[in-house]
Amino acid sequence: MASSCRHHQQPPLSHPTTTTRWWSEDSVAIVTGANKGIGYALVKRFAELGLTVVLTARDQSRGLQAMDSLKVLGVDHHVRFCQLDISDPVSIRCFVSWFRSSFKAFDILVNNAAVCFNAMNENSMEYAETVIKTNYYGSKQFTEAMLPFFRRSSSMSRILNISSRLGTLDKLNNPQMKAILGDKETLSEGRIDMVVNAFLEDVKEGRWKTQGWPEIWTDYSVAKLALNAYSQVLAKRYKGVVSVNCFCPGFTQTAMTDGNGKHSADDAAKMAAKIALLPVPVLNTGKFYVGSTSRGICSKL
Ligand code: NDP
Repeated sequence: MASSCRHHQQPPLSHPTTTTRWWSEDSVAIVTGANKGIGYALVKRFAELGLTVVLTARDQSRGLQAMDSLKVLGVDHHVRFCQLDISDPVSIRCFVSWFRSSFKAFDILVNNAAVCFNAMNENSMEYAETVIKTNYYGSKQFTEAMLPFFRRSSSMSRILNISSRLGTLDKLNNPQMKAILGDKETLSEGRIDMVVNAFLEDVKEGRWKTQGWPEIWTDYSVAKLALNAYSQVLAKRYKGVVSVNCFCPGFTQTAMTDGNGKHSADDAAKMAAKIALLPVPVLNTGKFYVGSTSRGICSKL
């Protein structure tokens, strides 16, 4: 394990106790944005490991194509598909009603879906509202809609938010916003929304570059900052009921990075699955895990 990970209390995830299998085909996982990239690879990984998985995609035909690929690979037995656009409340409602009639409960929610409209070296805020609406509010609203369906077993119920190091507090140089998001005692959904609204206001007024917001992929990073903070709020609220963690997969070769990256979506999905399936003795909540194929997975919190 890399030296930068040594001081963290979490054992490395290759530790023998972390490979204990606690799930079965009765365990149900839902993955958002799973027609391609890390989401698709994660559905495949869960299916290979024997869970029942719900593959969701905002575009029906792209979702069905992903199902076809899983069929070709022979891992489609326990995979179901349902259309879901996390930025559309009507689509979320349709998903909930389909889920209610198809399953009694579920165990694992992976909020993976996200958008980014900038190429690697760009930082335009043209689509800032859509990015915030999808990457933060979309994941939040879908989580809220699905919370009642968790089996509510402290050992099995898990949320894994696929996040990014670009959205960690050290990337924020606005003291006021940093104080709001950094104070775990007073952190609330209302306070997170205050930060997000301040950012959108700065974008609208054309002053976002001078307000200490993260410098790379600023809208995307603010959405991930908000998602990370929301995960903290949820982890505290549902302590002992649902485990809530974040995971940054590291620089991964997907459409989002124009195929650039240090490792494949399959590599990232293997790491994500390890965290989502942590056995009970090492299961934590409120953690921010970072993954790298050379350094392994470690917790930054
Ligand atoms: P991709 O662009 O390959 O995949 C993103 C997925 O999200 C696609 O399936 C896309 O669907 C879907 N999506 C976008 N908007 C919505 C929506 N409104 N409703 C439902 N699904 C939607 O990116 P990655 O696989 O790289 O990204 C997966 C996650 O990993 C994201 O949360 C990303 O922020 C995170 N991440 C990625 C890193 C990387 O280096 N790749 C690094 C750190 C974090 P469609 O095909 O229809 O567009």
